[in-house]
Amino acid sequence: MIILSVNAGSSSLKFTGFEMPSEDVLISGIFERIGIDGSFYTIKLNGEKTKKTVDLSDHKVAFEILIKELVDNKIVSSLDEIKGVGHRIVQGGSYFSKTEIATDDVVDKIDELSSLAPLHNPAAIVGINAAKAVMPNALQTVVFDTAFHQTMKEEEFMYAVPYAWYKEYKIRKYGAHGTSHKYVSQRMNEILGRNDTKLITCHIGNGASISAVKNGECVDTSMGLTPNAGLIMGTRCGDMDATVVTYAMEKTGMSPKEMDNVLNKQSGLLGISGVSGDSRDIEEGIKSGNERCILAQNMYVKRIVEYIAKYYVLLGGCDAIIFTAGVGENSAMTRKQVLDKLSILGVKIDDEANNVRGVEQKITADDSKIPAYIIPTNEELMIAKDTYSLILQG
Ligand code: AMP
Repeated sequence: MIILSVNAGSSSLKFTGFEMPSEDVLISGIFERIGIDGSFYTIKLNGEKTKKTVDLSDHKVAFEILIKELVDNKIVSSLDEIKGVGHRIVQGGSYFSKTEIATDDVVDKIDELSSLAPLHNPAAIVGINAAKAVMPNALQTVVFDTAFHQTMKEEEFMYAVPYAWYKEYKIRKYGAHGTSHKYVSQRMNEILGRNDTKLITCHIGNGASISAVKNGECVDTSMGLTPNAGLIMGTRCGDMDATVVTYAMEKTGMSPKEMDNVLNKQSGLLGISGVSGDSRDIEEGIKSGNERCILAQNMYVKRIVEYIAKYYVLLGGCDAIIFTAGVGENSAMTRKQVLDKLSILGVKIDDEANNVRGVEQKITADDSKIPAYIIPTNEELMIAKDTYSLILQG
């Protein structure tokens, strides 16, 4: 059967079509500038990528074109062969701890949580409604970035601010990248051949988070109420003294919205280096001796190491450290700097094994007390797998 994994943004729609249960990718691509002049889509099919300029007035039109591509390319002979559509949802709040069917009640709750993810949840609802209209016979499911982290205990997810804020405004830690942390931890358990494991999963991309995962369940994660917590990221500051915000607002006269923009889009590697939020540019800067790129990278690595050390203690040990996402999968330099700083825990990198990009591989020496692995993430597949299981459950 065919399952679509989709991620709707306000003007975009990313999709991957899987044959299940074989997990073969049949088609993937993205519709861009939906509802804006100059809309187009890029599609990857049989290893070939094509870009087509087309008028995309709304997400429904995008789904209709996607179906037409599937039929024209003989991937399906009719719409009914698409049995499920899994939608990525950024914020599921405390309501959702697993993938759900997108009933009206579920969609209402996603809508209610929009103030916690104003850019993402409303766009996802547009995607769900469009998919339902175009594929009424497919099971529509919602897969939450926050669901995997719902196993955190109160002492992990509460902030030490007035308790009433939690009750009235839902202010607490929710985490993010849950689908990725779930995928790589499941894959790690498959490799280790057991589920009773203590894992530290490092999703380090443009956005970055680390989770402590025990026996397949999240114990703690570095992202918070929003994705701007924990690690230093491409353009986000991550953890810091909260009073920096009020102090800087008084000094600069910035509004909350302006401050939010600085903390999310002008901080992190970009803010410190003044060069870029992209690790590749930081690495280039380091090679040419740029002091601020060196400082940015040192801070970035230090924060990752701090979280791994903290989670090592929280878990009472660690069976494997996993690197995933853009930087985690591709930057041998960052992985080496992190693992070298963990030598006190008996971690020993295998430099040759580490000198790879984007492959599933162990990167520590055989006598390393904790093995470290690169496991390329696959959130789209996780969404399709969850949707497939719900279809099987009937
Ligand atoms: P993601 O958000 O997971 O797509 O990750 C995107 C980020 O991965 C980019 O902004 C880069 O910082 C990083 N990245 C991608 N390729 C490389 C590479 N070869 N070396 C270092 N960083 C990389």
